[in-house]
Amino acid sequence: MLIDGFGRNVTYLRVSVTERCNFRCQYCMPEKPFSWVPKENLLSFEELFLFVKVAIDEGITKIRITGGEPLLRTDLDKFIEMINNHKNGLDLALTTNGFLLKDAAQKLKNAGLQRVNISLDSLKQDVAGKMAQKNVLVKVQAGIEEALKVGLEVKINMVPIKGINDTEVLDVLEYAKARGMSIRFIEYMENTHAKEKLKGLGAKEVQDIIATKYHFKAIGRVGPSPAHLFEFDDGYVFGIIDPHKHDFCQDCNRIRLTAEGMLIPCLYFDEAMSISNAVQTKNSESASAILKRVLYTKPEKNLWSHDAINQSSTRAFYQTGG
Ligand code: SAM
Repeated sequence: MLIDGFGRNVTYLRVSVTERCNFRCQYCMPEKPFSWVPKENLLSFEELFLFVKVAIDEGITKIRITGGEPLLRTDLDKFIEMINNHKNGLDLALTTNGFLLKDAAQKLKNAGLQRVNISLDSLKQDVAGKMAQKNVLVKVQAGIEEALKVGLEVKINMVPIKGINDTEVLDVLEYAKARGMSIRFIEYMENTHAKEKLKGLGAKEVQDIIATKYHFKAIGRVGPSPAHLFEFDDGYVFGIIDPHKHDFCQDCNRIRLTAEGMLIPCLYFDEAMSISNAVQTKNSESASAILKRVLYTKPEKNLWSHDAINQSSTRAFYQTGG
């Protein structure tokens, strides 16, 4: 078991396989960074897998592959297959913008992927294009349809931003519902890499919009998941992730690994330790020791808040994988 300094059982590892992305979402990476991490600093899949194996053997049961855009990395299905073959019964998922998913979905499913979260911020070509700063919608929707066709469980992520896509909360929810997909509305997390002056819809505002058309009841959070869930009268469930409340920090069960081997205990803070030397020298004991040290430094909670003085993180979500 992996227990952190506050007694929390850490069972969930998010692995970012690249910081690069083919979108320039306003709330994440509106401009290409001044310089990317040099390719030679990226860990190979074999090196990442060495750490993943250690983490699984110590108690990790859920792994999510993310990025940047993870489908930009060649042979991602091989990496997923390595993880899947290591242990039966793992919860293996991917977060993607869906742009390259149409051609990849079947291979990912064959490799052992079970679930995929796809970011879909708008159903209007111009709005989706404005958000991602690229003409994306047709390919993203094709990716979603293919993922469903090959039998992946699909969840939609939407980040509603005032003045951009906030009028589409109901449309995106209904698009997801009609296809049997769950949806999570994620409150915009202020960060210094995003376009300036963005304002996200708050959890209450999202609920108020949905309540104009549907009756639903709150179910609350289930397990350590950060999403507050709500159930329609017909049983459909949607979720809202409200990091500003940080009520989920008390049972946070996650750690994050970046593509260059930084092990991050909390999405908000810059603190991290490198496992790169350990995995490059195939030293599993050292990787395990670093994992334990990082767990010990996991903060009690993030610092996003609903207060007048908004807290902004300096962490880049395209590096940590959100
Ligand atoms: N490229 C993939 C994608 O688009 O889903 C994976 C990486 S992306 C960083 C992971 C998730 O983080 C996406 O659902 C995205 O919407 C979310 N995200 C990124 N920046 C965010 C921010 N500032 N606030 C809230 N969510 C954010």
